Amino acid sequence: MTTQIKRIIIVCSSTNHMLKADTILRERGLVVDLVPTPSQYGSICSTSILLEEIDKKSAEESLENTNIKFSIHPYETRKLTGLMEALKNQNISTAFQVVMNKIELGMDLTKEDILLLLKTESKKEIETLYGVADRLRREIVGDIVEIRAAIEFSNYCKKSCNYCGIRKGCDLPHRYRMEEDEILEAVKDILSLGIKTVILQSGEDDYYTTEKICSILRRIKKETKMGITLSIGERSREDYLKFREAGANNFLLKIETTNQEVFERIHPDNDFDQRLQCAKWLKELGYVNGSGNMIGLPGQTVEDIADDIVYYRDMGIHMIGIGPFIPAPGTPYENLPTGSVEMTLKAIAVTRIVCKNVFLPATTALASIDADGQRKALEVGANTIMLISTPDKYKKSYQLYKNKNMIDIQSAIDAVKGANRRLPKYLKVTSKEGI
Ligand code: SAH
Ligand code: SF4
Repeated sequence: MTTQIKRIIIVCSSTNHMLKADTILRERGLVVDLVPTPSQYGSICSTSILLEEIDKKSAEESLENTNIKFSIHPYETRKLTGLMEALKNQNISTAFQVVMNKIELGMDLTKEDILLLLKTESKKEIETLYGVADRLRREIVGDIVEIRAAIEFSNYCKKSCNYCGIRKGCDLPHRYRMEEDEILEAVKDILSLGIKTVILQSGEDDYYTTEKICSILRRIKKETKMGITLSIGERSREDYLKFREAGANNFLLKIETTNQEVFERIHPDNDFDQRLQCAKWLKELGYVNGSGNMIGLPGQTVEDIADDIVYYRDMGIHMIGIGPFIPAPGTPYENLPTGSVEMTLKAIAVTRIVCKNVFLPATTALASIDADGQRKALEVGANTIMLISTPDKYKKSYQLYKNKNMIDIQSAIDAVKGANRRLPKYLKVTSKEGI
């Protein structure tokens, strides 16, 4: 869809209503898409239905005699008034100005526009790019940095992704699995900090059967009411549905790269189409859908990174984790160069500009190659930090890459303060811990 076509957005009162409406409209033959709800319509349901204005009447008729609560709004991308005025007489190329003008007017950027932003080497243009991303972040998601926490509950994996430090082929000194009670204990430690969302991450480990995962999800929901993100890799549609019904709200399954050839080279066990299929299932099951990529993968070009960003927009992805590739000892890629901090920051900035109302973490990987990386990411569009809350005795064994920075509450607070941002009110941290 291009910016010339007028579009509308249907915002529903709950995820259930949104999914029901989506099915009804599709059955009616309307071309609809699921996208993150623009911030001006609140966060009643984080996903909304996008369609062309021409179909408004049919959509209204289709939903009229149902119990679905919804409102319809024009779909306007956010304008950045005054941007071109502020750039007057600056040392900025005409081509860059053309893209800035599109951003000021709230127009969709093309892949070529995105590429131009990613490729710029000019100091002034990079500064401008970061400034624009930061302004959009402030206007769309505000100054509060979301704090979430991850429990890495198993480092067993049946796959051998060439980049990953816990791949099956790695001869690790210690493989571990946490049992349900241990996971619950760790979740409660996170809850005691006031944190509202826990991320459960692991290798692809079939020890955790569908039933086991569902049981963990149900207990977390029942005993803590926390939001739950799963990050356990590829599973069947049926499993994803069961996890959703048992309480999982979000799912993080990164595409890693949208270049099929690179994807298949770095993932000896994975099929690119299957990964796309999983992402589509997660979307249609109403998950808050998480993706992301690595910067600096072998064979990856800047064009590929531009494609990744277009993919996030077109797929309506809500959480986008962008981090540098970091070589992991004992893997086929152990001697490859680390991804660039600057390209990672540029990709974060452009993603904020293109995808707007999304969660953009200041990733652990970035913090692992630059001690100040999280502050820098927060200053160019990021708005989320994920703590590593895996119990100490297991932490060291979950090394996806070398020198992983074990982000704790103190380092998160330092990054938030360093970037002159605000901590969420829900956080309960004592003065000893830094507030
Ligand atoms: N098994 C699950 C979750 C664990 S891996 C899965 O694969 O989805 C989680 C993420 O760690 C991956 O998506 C990947 O982006 C990141 N990761 C793994 N190895 C890495 C490396 N060497 N450098 C940077 N990121 C890495
Ligand atoms: Fe396993 Fe995930 Fe690592 Fe691949 S990236 S080897 S699936 S833990």
